[in-house]
Amino acid sequence: MVPEGSRRAQLRDNLTRTREAVAAACREAGREPDSVRLIVVTKNFPAADAATLVELSQSDLGENRDQEAAPKAAELAERGLDATWHFVGRLQRNKARSVARYAGWVHSVDRPRLVEALDRAAERPIDVLLQVSLDDDTSRGGASIGDLPLLAEAAAGAASLRLRGVMAVAPLGWEPVKAFELLAKCSETVRAVEPAAAEISAGMSGDFAAAVACGATMVRLGRNVLGEREPMA
Ligand SMILES: *Cc1c(COP(=O)(O)O)cnc(C)c1O
Repeated sequence: MVPEGSRRAQLRDNLTRTREAVAAACREAGREPDSVRLIVVTKNFPAADAATLVELSQSDLGENRDQEAAPKAAELAERGLDATWHFVGRLQRNKARSVARYAGWVHSVDRPRLVEALDRAAERPIDVLLQVSLDDDTSRGGASIGDLPLLAEAAAGAASLRLRGVMAVAPLGWEPVKAFELLAKCSETVRAVEPAAAEISAGMSGDFAAAVACGATMVRLGRNVLGEREPMA
């Protein structure tokens, strides 16, 4: 176990380095550093790390499983720490009610029935992104590109959801630039339905610079800030 004080120092240093790396990617792409929002994905790391990040003024946090995210979000709320939770993982309809309680953003909306479930569960407006399966292997989550217009219309028409843009994970074995250029095209498709839906959530620790070069407005980084993941006990 690392003593608590040094874990804080480690997270602070990693966070500073990561913010600098994102800013450098922006400069490289001729973009303003504040045009990209950093979301730190805390999955497999304890609530204490998430709390420390909020204390270090990193309030945008991501999680990919409700059973892990719900108690973490509750713990931070109990401690009076104001995080904005981004749900980035596959979402079953029966978890919509739980996720709607803490998530400000859901990045993984990929089917009309999930739109309905989230809309019904929402107690306040939820910002949503449509997850795209860039290689059309929808078994790994994400909507087919061809299904985007109808899905966008469903999300745009949902009273409690705000359609904000698109999200994707670069398919295994693809050049990141090829993946993120295709996602930029998907963003145009969605904006044809909802012009304000201009967010592009793309880029993880290994490929965020390519995502920023291709127009990402949100990067989702875990390992860069928290270190390599070990399965939680
Ligand atoms: C885990 C995860 C991330 C962060 O991945 P890292 O490689 O740790 O940066 C980003 N997006 C999604 C959807 C994830 O599940």
